[in-house]
Amino acid sequence: PALFEPERVNSTGFDLSDTPTLETLENARAPFRSAVWHATPLIAGDAKPEAADAVDNPYLPSDSPGSVATASAADIETALAAATPWNESPQARGEILNRAADLYEVHFGELFALLAREAGKTPFDAVAELREAVDFLRYYGANAPETPPAGVFTCISPWNFPLAIFSGQVAAALAAGNAVLAKPADQTPLIAYRAVELLHEAGVARTALQFLPGAGATVGAALTSDPRVNGVAFTGSTATAQRIRATMADHLAPGAPLIAETGGLNAMIVDSTALPEQAVTAIIESAFQSAGQRCSALRCLYVQEDIADGLLTMLKGAMKELTLGDPWALSTDSGPVIDDTARRGIADHIAQAQVEGRVLFQLPTPQTGTFIAPTLIKVGGIADLEREIFGPVLHVATFKSDELDQVIEAINATGYGLTFGLQTRIDDRVQHVSDRMHAGNIYVNRNQIGAIVGSQPFGGEGLSGTGPKAGGPFYLSRFASVERRRVND
Ligand code: GLU
Repeated sequence: PALFEPERVNSTGFDLSDTPTLETLENARAPFRSAVWHATPLIAGDAKPEAADAVDNPYLPSDSPGSVATASAADIETALAAATPWNESPQARGEILNRAADLYEVHFGELFALLAREAGKTPFDAVAELREAVDFLRYYGANAPETPPAGVFTCISPWNFPLAIFSGQVAAALAAGNAVLAKPADQTPLIAYRAVELLHEAGVARTALQFLPGAGATVGAALTSDPRVNGVAFTGSTATAQRIRATMADHLAPGAPLIAETGGLNAMIVDSTALPEQAVTAIIESAFQSAGQRCSALRCLYVQEDIADGLLTMLKGAMKELTLGDPWALSTDSGPVIDDTARRGIADHIAQAQVEGRVLFQLPTPQTGTFIAPTLIKVGGIADLEREIFGPVLHVATFKSDELDQVIEAINATGYGLTFGLQTRIDDRVQHVSDRMHAGNIYVNRNQIGAIVGSQPFGGEGLSGTGPKAGGPFYLSRFASVERRRVND
């Protein structure tokens, strides 16, 4: 892998505090306010998809952004038979992926509209997501390896980053020269379809990138159990990753890699020396941005007892300033959760805490859309969390000054290890805690979301994923041929 990475710059994105930029953004997405898209399988051969299903807007049930015709068993067979590793030099692959990144930027208005209407993403989230997608394309493109590809790679992506993670997996597999079979999340096929169209337009061969929308139980299962598949990249729940691993073990060659990024029970420790304003800002962003629907999001906050009352008062005050509502609106801080199934699962968890008298605070719930209002729930410690609650719910525990090591142990004992945040002004403590914490990404005196491609590789350990980290120098090596992967990888 390229430890000395080629020169490359990350996308600058859009400055939403700049009025001319906002006008540009508004003008670019306005034509797509009520546009309708239709996604179909994109395969190298005749598609015979299943009947089309409507795609939902999680904020407005009356506004469907389009429909998706899902891949049939015949489409999957056609795609598998046609899949051919990408026959371009590493340099040409890099150039084509760069061109795709340019096309993403050209079409930003349409992509922002889709992010809002299909995935409930606010403008702020949409800017971050487009940047990350563009950065993945350029970063993996610039590092396209000489090593032979694994062969055929299945990429299964989540709805919470329907453009960035979809594009990241696909770009990595393509940069390494594989043939890619991409299955988007059920909830977000439209933006993934547009991404594939743009990648084809940039010059990716149709036999090297095929798009197969559909359910995990059918399309996902077929694409992870066919022996013609040489590797799988998956981002989603830990339970699904475990199922995929079992399926692969039964059907694929023993060396076929699974690159999984899964869930987390991410914690933050705020000690009594922390800067309260900084800690509160970091907590709000980490727990509630993107409606808490990031794998990296903060789930369990540990505050040192001595400062807990003051910090929680400030935190509630800051929560009251959040605007919940239409993700299309520039003033919205936090949108709905992805669908009603997700909403009900989170609401049940909150209802249980309510029965037990543990809800410390909750904002009013908006009337439209599948909303969960940001909520604080008291817990004794992280061990009280039975599962990852994928929404804007923050669990809060306190600890005494001599309990720091017990807190670290409790966090490690969850078995997850994705992100961790620490707020302190004691340098030795930064060292002490980060030496002991099992987490892929440790953030000190800042928020714990929004890893940046190329400078903050992202990924976890234990139940949180297999590594290597996305957006880092070792990621591409897992997409290369098993036999010829370099010995020192
Ligand atoms: N990379 C994202 C972040 O740092 C999270 C990715 C995910 O939710 O899967 O916030």
